[in-house]
Amino acid sequence: MSETRTSEVDVLIIGAGPAGLMLGCWLARTGVKTRIIEQRDRKITCGHADGVQCRTIEVFQSFGFAERFAKEANELCETVFYNPDENRLLVPTERIPDTEPDISRFRHGVLNQGRIEDFLIDCMAEHGLKVERSIAAREFRFDDDLEATHPVEVTVAHLVPAAVDEANGDGSSGLYRSNVQPDEVVYVTMAKRTVSRTEKIKARYVVGCDGARSWTRKQLGYKLEGDSANIFWGVIDARPITDLPDIRVKVVLHSAESGSLLVVPRERNIVRFYVQLGKLEVGQKLDPSMQTLEAVIASARKIMAPYTLECPVVEWWSVYEIGQRLCRDVSFKNRVFLAGDAFHTHSPKAGQGMNFSMMDSYNLGWKLAACIKGTMNPKILETYASERVEAVSRLLDFDRDLAHLFSGKPAVAERAGVSMKEFQALWMRMAKWTSGTGIEYGPSMLVAERNEVKKALAGNILIGSHFESRVVVRYADAKGVHFADSLVSDGRWRLICFAGDMRDPTQFQRLERLCADLTSLPTSPIKRYTPPNADINSFIQLLTLTSSPRKALLYTSFPELTRPFVTVDGYRYPTYDQLFSDQPSYLDGGGGAYAWYGVDPCGPGCVVLVRPDQHVVDVMSFEECVETLGRFFDAIMVQESI
Ligand code: FAD
Repeated sequence: MSETRTSEVDVLIIGAGPAGLMLGCWLARTGVKTRIIEQRDRKITCGHADGVQCRTIEVFQSFGFAERFAKEANELCETVFYNPDENRLLVPTERIPDTEPDISRFRHGVLNQGRIEDFLIDCMAEHGLKVERSIAAREFRFDDDLEATHPVEVTVAHLVPAAVDEANGDGSSGLYRSNVQPDEVVYVTMAKRTVSRTEKIKARYVVGCDGARSWTRKQLGYKLEGDSANIFWGVIDARPITDLPDIRVKVVLHSAESGSLLVVPRERNIVRFYVQLGKLEVGQKLDPSMQTLEAVIASARKIMAPYTLECPVVEWWSVYEIGQRLCRDVSFKNRVFLAGDAFHTHSPKAGQGMNFSMMDSYNLGWKLAACIKGTMNPKILETYASERVEAVSRLLDFDRDLAHLFSGKPAVAERAGVSMKEFQALWMRMAKWTSGTGIEYGPSMLVAERNEVKKALAGNILIGSHFESRVVVRYADAKGVHFADSLVSDGRWRLICFAGDMRDPTQFQRLERLCADLTSLPTSPIKRYTPPNADINSFIQLLTLTSSPRKALLYTSFPELTRPFVTVDGYRYPTYDQLFSDQPSYLDGGGGAYAWYGVDPCGPGCVVLVRPDQHVVDVMSFEECVETLGRFFDAIMVQESI
């Protein structure tokens, strides 16, 4: 083996699953010097997670690849509940929309994890970042010297690529990475790999996105806490032949005696079946005879009976144990972080695993980038733990209730058991969670307190939640567009100005005054923190929505900050994508955005500050805007950077 080389990087990401790749997208896009290492030689191609929530697709949109997802994914439209009737025969008892109307501009979709990873990999590559495969993190050292710029040192092993595809086992079985496999089996397999050379990577920050058996977590001495429910499920991706009437919609099926089953129709007429295999006593291990494809299909047949099931083509299958586990410590000295399965695991029923993992690093990425660029105080990194641990704790509570009701025997006729009404009510109540749109971050240095005054300004804009979207009309080209499509993930903050009725001269003057103050007052963060010679919209971008018709005023009548000039190839060009009207478009719908956001179209308007990850920071009146923004940014920005 050759001698150990040493290198330096701003961020080292360990693990190229969904969490690591999402972080890679942020950092690549914001120009941070990053490496992303992955011990597996090849990426996964089938199986694993498949459900993508509305909120995650909104994030895909902000990175520019939601369309690719939409083209390939199977959009889910309906969920049907099958329950036993009084004669214990399975019948459909309720049909509901799979995505609650108006919860998002996107609908849930399903597509295999490997393709989602492809989109993220391509997005990273566009900005020059590639996954370095066959590299495993092996040793960890932290330099306690406060002056150290690169305090984390990770020794990695460059592995000789294995002949067998480590990523997919034998191609169709996901058993080798399942949590029914003891740690020893997985670690021994990895430890046996031949090492060609080692390398010491010194990093300013390290993020362990290395999955449920996280190596990083172990180096920090942190533990996943929680329970395994001793309930086992099988999962199959198959092209089935069945007489179940509903196979191309989602089916939640509880049999009277034989357990439960979830049917998720996938792309290419594939169907994913989650099949309950049984509940064991504490400490009991699942019989290996149950850990076979034949056993999982046999269980599915029993649960679905009298409906029939043949699976001539099976793309992938696995067996897993349900459990809700959380590591409450997710950061070490604000230099090492855990994201994704490395800090939480839960049952896959509500499709949360991959989504929550990506949303962890979506929360972290822009904060890391701002600290590395020296613009923001590293204290903001503390909000990663407070925001994500709270979100995950709530997820685990929901998941526990869902898993319990999913795995319980239904009450039938005189027999006591899980109430199917209660189960369906929980499923519907949790629509915001299962769509990913229910995450609200509490007050912190990055989220203001809520109060009645702010509520009166914009009754339906929830501080701490993500900014929702409505169709509005762009002044410059009369096109109906989704407002939130402007919230591109590029690290910029957004100031959303509900300007009100521009036909009212007093209101128009108030907008002019606000724009003048934002560009000239020394306390304005636009004035104070936009780097010299940079475009005026490069740190905070103003997006203006009027309640008056677009035709009432010419585009060029508006204050320049609402349609600023930016430099491209040495020329000053006007922008056309920051000014909108809340009126129906010619062809694409729209109108009613003010009512949706709870802002009075004839009133004084208001201003909403939105973070780079689209979460709402605060709602302000025009008059208090500059001062409130000034206080907020002064508390989080590095003052020397001015
Ligand atoms: P992972 O996807 O696990 O990625 C972690 C990566 O880190 C891996 O690629 C690993 O090789 C790498 N790594 C680990 N240690 C090191 C090291 N020392 N050095 C370098 N690299 C390292 N979710 C659902 O929602 N629905 C499902 O049906 C479903 N089925 C699943 C079936 C299986 C068998 C598994 C394993 C998971 C399943 N999941 C499912 C969960 C879902 O895949 C995860 O929630 C999601 O992948 C988490 O993403 P992540 O990036 O946090 O971790």
